[in-house]
Amino acid sequence: MNMSVLEPVLAERKKKFQKACKCNGLRRTPQKSIIFEILASTHTHPTAHELYTEVKKHFPTLSFATVYKNITLFAKNGIIKELDFGEGYKRYDADITDHHHIYYSQTKIVQDVFLPSSTPVPIPTELQNIPLKKIHITYTV
Ligand SMILES: [Zn+2]
Repeated sequence: MNMSVLEPVLAERKKKFQKACKCNGLRRTPQKSIIFEILASTHTHPTAHELYTEVKKHFPTLSFATVYKNITLFAKNGIIKELDFGEGYKRYDADITDHHHIYYSQTKIVQDVFLPSSTPVPIPTELQNIPLKKIHITYTV
């Protein structure tokens, strides 16, 4: 399975990143850009440590704390998604479009799921009168 993002998709994500930094008043540094770019170029939904390992190849002096601080900042500003599959650590996703995930607990592989917008997602009666911010479904296998 090829987990790389296609070039036009990556270009689009980088453009959105620049805009999002501007909108959120974040100073765009080469470190921030490479952290985002590495996350944006994969479909693997990496952990902070996996990201750090990749980022270090480009910025050997960058600390894990800096990488972690920046991805947390990106997530807080809605630039990336923070995901929790109950593994004891978070995973990150540069695809902020509405989508769901399949989590393979044996292999720890995370796959995107795009349900057709015509697919009605059942809303529990408890939430019927509450405005939902988002619906995220994790299919754990
Ligand atoms: Zn995803």
